Amino acid sequence: MPRLFLSGGVQDKRTEHKMDAILNWLINDVPANALAGLQFEATRYATGTLGVFFGIWIFLEPLLKSRKIRKPTPRRRQIQMELFNSFKTICVFVALDIAIFDVAQAGVFKKYDDIAEYGQLWYWLSIPVAILLHDTYFYWAHRAMHHPKLFKTFHLTHHRSHNPTPFTAYSFAVGEAVVMYAFVPLMMLIMPIHGSALVIVLLIMIFKNALGHCGYELFPRGTTHHPILKHMTTITHHDMHHERANGNYGFYFTWWDKLMGTEHPDYEARFDAVTARRSRKIAPQTA
Ligand SMILES: [Zn+2]
Ligand SMILES: [Zn+2]
Repeated sequence: MPRLFLSGGVQDKRTEHKMDAILNWLINDVPANALAGLQFEATRYATGTLGVFFGIWIFLEPLLKSRKIRKPTPRRRQIQMELFNSFKTICVFVALDIAIFDVAQAGVFKKYDDIAEYGQLWYWLSIPVAILLHDTYFYWAHRAMHHPKLFKTFHLTHHRSHNPTPFTAYSFAVGEAVVMYAFVPLMMLIMPIHGSALVIVLLIMIFKNALGHCGYELFPRGTTHHPILKHMTTITHHDMHHERANGNYGFYFTWWDKLMGTEHPDYEARFDAVTARRSRKIAPQTA
């Protein structure tokens, strides 16, 4: 048999196997991973945003009237737009879940399943470490997206919510959704994290995100002067970011904004004014 023909035959067989593997991936793996990703991403989104919406906007609203940061209450059309954008964000997250699933299976990430591998101490420490890393990633990614050359493509969609609602949390353009998603695989490349610790971090992220956009100040009076609490970003902190579309870029903590001089000079006064309102007669500031 001519050698050329033989090698061609082997090549054909290899191509055939590759085609089979791709078809098998498309028919079996992709739908299964898509379903698992969709279940997780949709549940996480719904738990955070609906939890904050029903908890703050419906049940606690009568008690929190004086803590409404700005009027007017966003219109239904804004919430519809945010829900539509959130649906797109979830689709992007699921697509990226599918894309990185095989990379994860190949053992590229440092995610682990047996707590004994790194011990109890690291299990609990890994959660605040992940939060600190996310805070730094968020500050710089967020600031970068405010660059005039990037703002329109990446971040304008999020800022269409001038006065935010809990559903603003995922109201992203496709590009911003990719940037927001990228933190988790990057983090798993550099630090070991147990699967359940990762779920806790992801839940903290969505709750902090939805609360930061809820429009009602929940932190106690005096927070910005308290030696420990002053380092936390309050609801007013991110609300002012949406109101003015600049400054106050931090997510969990205020230290990057303080260090880089990007905190609004009147942030503390604004927070104090919002939390000083005791009576319903003192109306929230009109946007
Ligand atoms: Zn925001
Ligand atoms: Zn922004």
